[in-house]
Amino acid sequence: MLSKEKLRSKFREDWEKHYKLDFLINQGFVRKVCSKCGKGFWTLQTEREVCPDQPCQFYEFLGNPPTKKRFDYIQSWKVIEDFFKKHGHTSIRRYPIVCRWRPDLFFTIASIIDFQRLGEEGVSFQFPANPLIVPQFCLRFNDIPNVGITGRHYSCFCMIGQHSIYDGKKGYWKDRCIELDFRLLSSSFGIKPEEIIFLEDLWVGPGAFGPSLEYFVKGLELGNAVFTEFKSDNSNLHEMKEKVIDMGAGLERFAWITQGTPTSYDVVFEPILRYMKKQTGIKYDSEFFLKYSKLAGTLNLDEVNNIKRMRKQIADKLGVTVELLEKKIKPLEAMYAISDHTMGLTFAIADGLLPSNVGGGYNLRVILRRALGFIDDFRWDIDLFDLCNLHARHLRLICPELSEHLDEIQRILDIEKKRFHETKLRTKRIVETIIQKGETIDEERLINLYDSKGITPELIQDYVSDLEVPDDFYTKVTERHMGEKRAMIREEIDVTNIPPTKLLVYEDLKKMEFQAKVLKMINDKYVVLDKTYFYPEGGGQKSDVGFIDDAPVSDVQKVGDVVLHRVMDKLEEGKTVNCRINSYRRDILKKHHTGTHIVNVAAREVLGNHVWQHGAEKTSEKARLDITHYDNLTEEEVEKIEERANEIVKKNLPVKIEVLPRGEAEKKYGFRIYQGGVVPEDVLRIVSIGNIDHEACGGLHLEKTGEAEFITILKTKRIQDGIVRIEFSVGPVALKYLKEKEALLRETAKLLKVKEEKVPEAVKDLFEKWKSKRKELRKLRRK
Ligand SMILES: [Zn+2]
Ligand SMILES: [Zn+2]
Repeated sequence: MLSKEKLRSKFREDWEKHYKLDFLINQGFVRKVCSKCGKGFWTLQTEREVCPDQPCQFYEFLGNPPTKKRFDYIQSWKVIEDFFKKHGHTSIRRYPIVCRWRPDLFFTIASIIDFQRLGEEGVSFQFPANPLIVPQFCLRFNDIPNVGITGRHYSCFCMIGQHSIYDGKKGYWKDRCIELDFRLLSSSFGIKPEEIIFLEDLWVGPGAFGPSLEYFVKGLELGNAVFTEFKSDNSNLHEMKEKVIDMGAGLERFAWITQGTPTSYDVVFEPILRYMKKQTGIKYDSEFFLKYSKLAGTLNLDEVNNIKRMRKQIADKLGVTVELLEKKIKPLEAMYAISDHTMGLTFAIADGLLPSNVGGGYNLRVILRRALGFIDDFRWDIDLFDLCNLHARHLRLICPELSEHLDEIQRILDIEKKRFHETKLRTKRIVETIIQKGETIDEERLINLYDSKGITPELIQDYVSDLEVPDDFYTKVTERHMGEKRAMIREEIDVTNIPPTKLLVYEDLKKMEFQAKVLKMINDKYVVLDKTYFYPEGGGQKSDVGFIDDAPVSDVQKVGDVVLHRVMDKLEEGKTVNCRINSYRRDILKKHHTGTHIVNVAAREVLGNHVWQHGAEKTSEKARLDITHYDNLTEEEVEKIEERANEIVKKNLPVKIEVLPRGEAEKKYGFRIYQGGVVPEDVLRIVSIGNIDHEACGGLHLEKTGEAEFITILKTKRIQDGIVRIEFSVGPVALKYLKEKEALLRETAKLLKVKEEKVPEAVKDLFEKWKSKRKELRKLRRK
């Protein structure tokens, strides 16, 4: 694979092949080379010498928009959607902002991610329609310090995706793509053709790349049309059979350019800002701010790491002090950032993710605490939930589903707010201790304080006024957690040169005895057979046990395509052996496994949409299901979950297994199928319980929920931030547990000298007595 720079020069040399389009030529566009940066660009302005991008050109539309009509955020989408629908595109609903279908991403970061799947063969594309248009809301956390400040950086934004697959017959390619984008700008938005400039560039994605044309109007990049047509294989340009149009444009920028406001936030968050200004009584000096924005636009903010230095330069040019400048703009910047962060939280929580200190939840808590920090700093009377509510209302024409999750968003934000204030109280003590010890708070320490205790630099600044906080602090802390999403692969034993085992367990689930041939004995411990009906551990389900001849099998693992049976005694290679599977244990495992699906769906129904399976383990004694939830479960909630689970058992719903291509499975059942994480296969085994639950799962299940008999929740525990563990057992194991409880009850009744049915009352009585005794005891101790 060539470096991006090498590819760039290769494409530049061969510009006629990659960038010269009949459409552009017919319209009278000419190719120019930027006198400042050397990039190629296409324009109708025959005299033009510089490219349309910063730093070669600055914004020219602030206070002076190039369109006659003004569109707000929602209207802009409607104009774009209408245009593409009129030209044969299917408009599809957004995909979740929480990216459950990719093992390498927590969040959807671009519209093309919706359709990319990582399989065993690398990246493939799955488009539900061709061509299509999608308003894809995205989350990115790499620019947090710039959010609210530059006027155009967001952590949450809407990428308009214009996509088509082209194989020579279906779909369309470069010419049609650029023609559509040009007509959208000129006809639908009314931008003069001379103002539209296309800049040559390229895009390198995972496993594929291609040339791109970015389109600019008055110094603002509105969209980027990427023509993904080459596969990355060594140094050759290897053309793909199916090429992909990947045009992504910022909806924020389309609305912005028609209004020419000082920042794009003024347009995008209009109702939210209006509310905040009313709540805080802050007046907006729009003339001053426009001057400020124009100046800020002449500085390349992407490169500015030092915001303080930038402010000094602007203050000098405006002829004011830095203090005055900051006094005027800081509250506004805070409002912009809060608007952005609450929009991100609204989407992410509605899509089922919780703020926490693990994985993607970590990023959510960062923006949540940053927003709360601003509100506290300025002592504003603003509640984050009210803003989420406004976002949901504002966006209802594009994303009507957001308002369905408001209750849940409120509950979660309330708890998080409480936690934040608890942290604030703790901060004082912790910082005082550090100062007493004479220790310094450097960058590493800052990051650790946030990482381990949730203490933000803003909180520390209340006690240490001269604290040095790097501008990219939040980028640094989130970067630490980006590598957490990785598939767990266990491969300790070398199985190269061993033929694959025929794994027949799914073909006949009732087969408990069979004959097979010993192919190989590894390390005197593991038997490889030519075929097996033993279930190897997987999907959180323990393996079958049993016998191979007289040798007990204690564990079965699958490594690659080879199944390893762990045995106590050595077996002779080449020999035909008799195998027996312990059917009682298999049965219990099936019950516990199916029970896990049932308890998971029951928990989600009782607790809310944010409940996902975080992990699970099923042994023959009990099952353990870890779910995402923000708090301990109350007794009432546990009871409700148990009740609902048993209702599902009683209904005797069928447990159906389907083998479907991945795209079809997603289309039919949505991304909830990825409860146990992403599965790399292109064909998925979908397990459905009636029509209430569908999961991609490779485990062994009952045929009907009724076979589980009943489910008892043994205990629940909050095992870490955002994760609750539910232990339960099913059928005969549950019965054993209840019998023990019953015996205990009988014993208790005897001790209390009451009838068994009176026990609860007597126990309650006893408990009250004990509580008051404890109180007395405490009082005595205090004296
Ligand atoms: Zn240039
Ligand atoms: Zn399962």
